[in-house]
Amino acid sequence: MNYKQIQEDVIRKYRITIDSDSKCWRRTHAHVKERKVCKWRPKSSIACTFELLHEIGHIETTKSWMRRAESEYYATCWAIDRCYEYGIEAPAKLLKEYQDYINMEIDRGKRRGGNGYGDLSLVGYLRKRLDDIERDLEKLNSELLKLKAYEDSLKDCRFKRGLYR
Ligand SMILES: [Zn+2]
Ligand SMILES: [Zn+2]
Repeated sequence: MNYKQIQEDVIRKYRITIDSDSKCWRRTHAHVKERKVCKWRPKSSIACTFELLHEIGHIETTKSWMRRAESEYYATCWAIDRCYEYGIEAPAKLLKEYQDYINMEIDRGKRRGGNGYGDLSLVGYLRKRLDDIERDLEKLNSELLKLKAYEDSLKDCRFKRGLYR
């Protein structure tokens, strides 16, 4: 799938309405309840695709307890997961822009007396995902070994009974 096909696919899959000519005053943004993304236009680039994924990420992940920094972080993590899924890669430079934005929101929150933000690092999230996948692989591998041993024992058993010719 190319970028435009991926964009069409996520819009359909997550039942999103796009309002490119919205009269809202902000730049590209999402209306979570209405499942609507304003001021976004399809364009064949990773930046444009990631921006759409990030906004849909808000629609899919934003919870009422989240502060701005947290909702930005979880929306971005959701976008990263979809990139894996579609086999596209968000370049480090792009992720850094999103991380800078998250950090700015953390600072702003702290200035207003907020605390306990925890680890909102995108690199940390990627590390965690890699660890998860490695753990899954290990589990699959040990199941594979178990199945192979089981198959061998069955063969052995049939051989002994003379079922193999
Ligand atoms: Zn709007
Ligand atoms: Zn956002």
